[in-house]
Amino acid sequence: MKTQANESKQKNVLLEVTGLKQHFPIKGGIFGRVVNQVKAVDDVSFTIYEGETVSIVGESGCGKSTTGRAILRLDEPTDGQIRFQGKDLLSLGPNEMRKMRKDLQVIFQDPFASLNPRQTVGEILREALSIQKVVPKQKYRERIIELLENVGLRADSMDRYPHEFSGGQRQRIGIARALAVEPKLIICDEAVSALDVSIQAQVLNLLKELQRKFKLTYLFISHDLGVVRHISDRVIVMYLGKIVEIADKKSLFDNPQHPYTKALLSAIPLPERKEKRERILLKGDVPSPINPPTGCRFHTRCPFAADICKEREPELQAVDATHQAACHFV
Ligand code: SF4
Repeated sequence: MKTQANESKQKNVLLEVTGLKQHFPIKGGIFGRVVNQVKAVDDVSFTIYEGETVSIVGESGCGKSTTGRAILRLDEPTDGQIRFQGKDLLSLGPNEMRKMRKDLQVIFQDPFASLNPRQTVGEILREALSIQKVVPKQKYRERIIELLENVGLRADSMDRYPHEFSGGQRQRIGIARALAVEPKLIICDEAVSALDVSIQAQVLNLLKELQRKFKLTYLFISHDLGVVRHISDRVIVMYLGKIVEIADKKSLFDNPQHPYTKALLSAIPLPERKEKRERILLKGDVPSPINPPTGCRFHTRCPFAADICKEREPELQAVDATHQAACHFV
């Protein structure tokens, strides 16, 4: 596509996801045969450039976290291609993939569950350093102190256990662990969702500061458009396993094109604007990903649905150089 070709001339592609599918089998009957599939992610393609923050946003069950897990190969994708720095991740064997995990780190939503309560912070970070052998053993202590300082924790935190810290501090430990191996891409899966709003802002600012300092790239997965607006350069909106809109942040928030994005945005306050955005209420619940609606998957809830929407699936089409949306009436 012309717009993407122009963009890629100026920036280096870090991650390229093409035609990604993640279908989970449903087994039934006495023989445990596959009777159906949950189409959690269904033909998703996008590119992430070095140094940017791309967010994936959508309601629960839209496939955003499944996409993150597939990129990390925590679940093996059903189909598609994932290229990281030009390397096809899905063709890598377990050893090569283990080495690749040095460059691909993840921060999960729940810092309480993702840190081993029986290890001190120093042991947690030492373990991360020893797996990927980023620095020699004799430098571990020095590196751990540096990591803690980078995330705003004191050096003596290394001798304490996770339960001795607040939620925000624990998430800082999770960030330090991800940073320990000097990654290129960090997938932040609802990384601030469990935190109070004031702490969320501190952690988001820390992530931005670390991005500038270490030239990090983030794939930020969140259901919260307020958080997404704070952190993103570009935003991907997903609905029922499909991308419905991709745009740079300003274009998406100022000029949303897809009715689903408009509905999501109409639900968040716009403090800096005088004019009020009309609230668009969506009817019904998100349909099942086992039998998604025909044509446009959003047609069962879309206030603008027409006959064509039930019959033909809309493709992503360019609105402008940085903006694409999948709707017949864009
Ligand atoms: Fe709504 Fe039709 Fe556009 Fe889908 S294609 S978002 S149903 S108007």
